Amino acid sequence: MSDGIRVTVWNEGVHEKENPKVAEVYPKGMGHQIGQYLEKQPGIALVHVSELNDPDQGLSDAILDNTDVMTWWGHMAHDKVSDENAAKVHQRVLDGMGLVVLHSGHFSKPFKALMGTGCDLKWREWEGVGEKERLWVVDPAHPIVDGIPEYIELPNAEMYGEHFDIPQPDQQVFISWFQGGEVFRSGCCWHRGFGKVFYFRPGHETFPIYYNDLILKVIYNGVCWARRTQVTGGIQRGNREPLEKLG
Ligand code: ZN
Repeated sequence: MSDGIRVTVWNEGVHEKENPKVAEVYPKGMGHQIGQYLEKQPGIALVHVSELNDPDQGLSDAILDNTDVMTWWGHMAHDKVSDENAAKVHQRVLDGMGLVVLHSGHFSKPFKALMGTGCDLKWREWEGVGEKERLWVVDPAHPIVDGIPEYIELPNAEMYGEHFDIPQPDQQVFISWFQGGEVFRSGCCWHRGFGKVFYFRPGHETFPIYYNDLILKVIYNGVCWARRTQVTGGIQRGNREPLEKLG
């Protein structure tokens, strides 16, 4: 393992090719926009941007072997990710790879497998312009909110509302308020096996959310939090001799 964090930014990359409105916001793709920010941040060793249309869907063993933390954005092509690749990502998380799941990635195969619940929610894209969202920090001591003010305000956002069908998070970092009245658990952390999972809500494809410095900073902080850790010598399981004399 290198000293710096090796990040794979997995981006579905379909909206950008099919919807001119999205291509206008993200001409090089959402993955590129997130990746070019991450690669400039301290402690990041390398960033690789993967897309669904890449060979092996951007999820080859060579790429996964070189990934400490993966970020995941998907929406309209969740079912195109092969079951085999989704299972590989799931297993990598159990083995220690960090996973930062963004926005509509809540319905991705790896996230649903890791949660074990339906992961459904309410949503609304009001008249194409969205509505105001305030993401309130509810755990100010959490490393993911380092350098973040007590709330982040997004003037135009798609609404996601409760109930969000997830298991209770191990750590709740953000709760969002929306202009239309709903609330949503918009920043949630879980441990799964040796891996860590951070779900972060913002990022609807028609709004320039991933140009917002605070949103990018939270993604970076999430990557740092989710980075792989290793117990020296590994964890021993199974039938063991006692460490102390028993009789
Ligand atoms: Zn959306």
